[in-house]
Amino acid sequence: MTSNEIKTIDSQNVMQTYGRFDAVIERGEGARLYSPEGKEYIDFTSGIGVNSIGYGNKKWADAVYTQAMKLQHVSNLYYSEPYAKLAERLTARTGMKNVFFANAGGEANEGMIKLARKYSFDKYGKGRSTIISLMQSFHGRTITTLAATGQESFHNYFFPFTEGFEHVAANDIKALETLLDAGATAAASIDGTSALKPMPAAPTSGGVCAILLELIQGEGGVLPLDPGYVKAVAKLCTDRDLLLLIDEVQTGVGRTGALFAFQHYGIVPDVVSFAKGIAGGLPMGGIMANEKCAAVLTAGTHATTFGGNPISAAGALEVLNQLDDGALAEVTKKGQHIAETIKSWGLQSVGEIRGKGLMLGISMKGVAPKDVAQACVDDGLLILTAGADALRMLPPLTITYEEIDKGLAILKKHL
Ligand SMILES: *Cc1c(COP(=O)(O)O)cnc(C)c1O
Repeated sequence: MTSNEIKTIDSQNVMQTYGRFDAVIERGEGARLYSPEGKEYIDFTSGIGVNSIGYGNKKWADAVYTQAMKLQHVSNLYYSEPYAKLAERLTARTGMKNVFFANAGGEANEGMIKLARKYSFDKYGKGRSTIISLMQSFHGRTITTLAATGQESFHNYFFPFTEGFEHVAANDIKALETLLDAGATAAASIDGTSALKPMPAAPTSGGVCAILLELIQGEGGVLPLDPGYVKAVAKLCTDRDLLLLIDEVQTGVGRTGALFAFQHYGIVPDVVSFAKGIAGGLPMGGIMANEKCAAVLTAGTHATTFGGNPISAAGALEVLNQLDDGALAEVTKKGQHIAETIKSWGLQSVGEIRGKGLMLGISMKGVAPKDVAQACVDDGLLILTAGADALRMLPPLTITYEEIDKGLAILKKHL
């Protein structure tokens, strides 16, 4: 089929929920994509941070094919090897205690929110259920994760949203403390009738049970949190027995040059979510819990039919094989190369370059990021936008320097 035929069928049969760029993609090789007519695109998006080891990756395709021929799905009523091995590899490389597998980022975050509320309920009873997240955050498109998302534009149409979410400004530890102190009376009136054992008095937390963060806010504009702020939040969580929930749906799986971004910050999260890059293009998400939170979700309290699907798990095992320490060090170097090259152009339209590894944002001055992105697509470079002012780059982690330079040459023409 031609690009035009595909676009016509799409417009007549698919709910038009996406503002698509004018490009039809048929196949890929490395970090290059091709339209049905053979037009080449350098890919600085990897399907929004998903195709972490690129296109036409033979070992990954073999692992997926071999697993598909053996067993595609078994349900979570039985055990299977790819799933168990993947959990073992993730815990070994992060120091986290155990894993729950889901299918996407929003669903993973739902699990993380359930875990946090149950942790507090088990320990202190009802009433300590609020989760604080940050302004400019993005946590998903379900009714609950929209409520968790700290951007007003997402809080529309679908009322009523899930209650129990508050948002504070990022990098402002005082604002967070004020919010926690403000609800001290609410915390004091927690009713412990829901459990048989007497409840200990909860530390002052204003009815809050957890703080939810992205370490680099992706959709919000590629906005990294200050390391000092992250440490201070971690300490507040320890002092008040709040769970520290880190949403690594976008930053995880090598994207920032560490397997998980929290490993750059010298903190140990209570729960971490992941999704996008984990399985190299197959749907998979999940959460990892530390020792303290490893046994909160018990049999019957959380489940998902497709979670830990063996084909996705086999793909994810191959992604982790390829993202060894050497490959992660390369991610850091490639990111530096991109940032330095763009700075060296000295262009008026380029503001700051933000982010880490191969998760980079360029703030734009005097030009609309969307217009630049569309001009780049027309000229053979796929690139994303983020927040109000930024272009965003999330190339495959295996992109070559030659592909990077070819993409940057296109970008330069349109800045
Ligand atoms: C993409 C994203 C999500 C949502 O993931 P889905 O797989 O689309 O449900 C949640 N959190 C962050 C930080 C994301 O980047």
